[in-house]
Amino acid sequence: MKKKIIIACHECDLLHRIESLPEGSTALCRRCHAVLLSHKKDSLNRSLALNITALILFFISNAYPLIEIKTEGICRATTLMGGVRNLYDQGFWEIALLVLFTAILFPGFEILSRLYLLLPLKFYKKPWHMSLIIKFIQKIKPWGMMDVFMLGILVSVIKLVKMVSVIPGPSLYSFFALIFVVTGAASAMDFHSIWEKA
Ligand SMILES: [Zn+2]
Repeated sequence: MKKKIIIACHECDLLHRIESLPEGSTALCRRCHAVLLSHKKDSLNRSLALNITALILFFISNAYPLIEIKTEGICRATTLMGGVRNLYDQGFWEIALLVLFTAILFPGFEILSRLYLLLPLKFYKKPWHMSLIIKFIQKIKPWGMMDVFMLGILVSVIKLVKMVSVIPGPSLYSFFALIFVVTGAASAMDFHSIWEKA
């Protein structure tokens, strides 16, 4: 007998009994046609590749200078973490904490948690505390705001360019790429097929 799962439509609450979906197909609500479930193609390998790329970009973004500022012959480079420390030193500890959590810690935790789920599954092993980690990923996902932070950096760079010479560092490029890779990694993730594999 084929395994069936019961899903409530998130738009109209209609209950559906669904058999396991073939790869690349989507189940729609009978009443309002909202997407109930979609079984993405080769989701495990694609998510794994995107999350490993994200981890490398995350490392580069944090290890190298974000921008260098040249003024009156003095050159100052700052990293992401250095920026957080500067904000803290200037008394803006609330903003420093906000940047630390939304631009560094939450995106980092999100990438690591996804790899924690995907790597064992790739080798046909069930990760420990799977449901807890899935809940954790879904809880912290809205708090990753690298795109907002990037917009903030670009606005301040444009303003600074008029007064001092600003040189973009390697971290700025990798951080920009990281935003797209993390978004791709999140959309490639298919929790339904993860449950099925586990
Ligand atoms: Zn519906």
